[in-house]
Amino acid sequence: MSANVIDGKQVAAQLRSRVAAGVTEFTVANGRPPALATVLASNDPASDVYVSNKRRLSEEVGMRSVHRQLDPGADPKELLATVEELNNDDTVDGILVQLPLPQQHDQDDVIAAIDPAKDVDGLTSTSAGLLIQGRPNLVPCTPKGVMELLASADVPIRGAHAVIVGRSILVGRPLSALLLNADATVTVCHSRTRDLVGICRSADILIAAVGVPEIITADMVKPGATVIDVGINRTDNGLVGDVDFESVVEVAGAITPVPGGVGPMTIAMLLENTLQAARARTGMGA
Ligand code: NAP
Repeated sequence: MSANVIDGKQVAAQLRSRVAAGVTEFTVANGRPPALATVLASNDPASDVYVSNKRRLSEEVGMRSVHRQLDPGADPKELLATVEELNNDDTVDGILVQLPLPQQHDQDDVIAAIDPAKDVDGLTSTSAGLLIQGRPNLVPCTPKGVMELLASADVPIRGAHAVIVGRSILVGRPLSALLLNADATVTVCHSRTRDLVGICRSADILIAAVGVPEIITADMVKPGATVIDVGINRTDNGLVGDVDFESVVEVAGAITPVPGGVGPMTIAMLLENTLQAARARTGMGA
């Protein structure tokens, strides 16, 4: 039997309309809309598209978009000064520095410079520390989007065995904390994991965040399991995920497609984080 295909586009659209309603309420209460600042320091075409989409969608939900474009050869001090200027601007609620950065910049230094109250990407040590302690504030957008997709499909998390393939700071690690906080039993796999197939097969919830096209095949999936595909891989056959959708859809109970699964959730969660930060900063509560 074929799995239930979770429609990330639809869940993201519903979330954006919830955020838009919150933005209207915020604007009435504060006499200004929430503002999301984007900083683009590279001339990478993909980053340019990502930032344009973030700006467009933030304006669509009624937010103010503030943008700082730096020369790709800009001095590291200039980028840090830009972040500082946005930290000090009381009308800016969220700061997103688009990664990756040109090599002259130290990514850790730049992330550390962001005011944790405006850390809508959830990447500062403060945000990561709060998450690992089980009292999350601003949570990285893609993992937060995965949790929302699981909730939208009514996937039981408490007591379930969740297996995450991938341990990046952006996806795998924060997702492991979110699932643990939701009472799953969590296993995190990576490139040195022994018996990846066997561990994946024991998962009730299997999440692939690897960056290797279609590495998760049907023999790695327990019948009826929920499979979430975070991967985005550009191949000669177009955009594919980390999951071999065609075979896994026949074994899984629920599955996200690529495109149209986790991808649309990421920006929707960035907007939600911006509204959350704006409310917290103005004393409206999260
Ligand atoms: P990353 O930083 O490159 O991390 C990849 C992880 O996969 C690492 O932990 C690595 O292990 C592990 N890995 C690599 N090869 C493996 C193998 N053969 N077996 C088991 N584990 C293996 O990637 P990322 O930033 O987390 O992104 C992962 C994927 O998600 C990419 O395709 C990316 O484009 C996509 N992504 C999508 C969104 C979205 O909005 N949908 C957002 C972010 C990322 P080691 O740690 O041992 O090296």
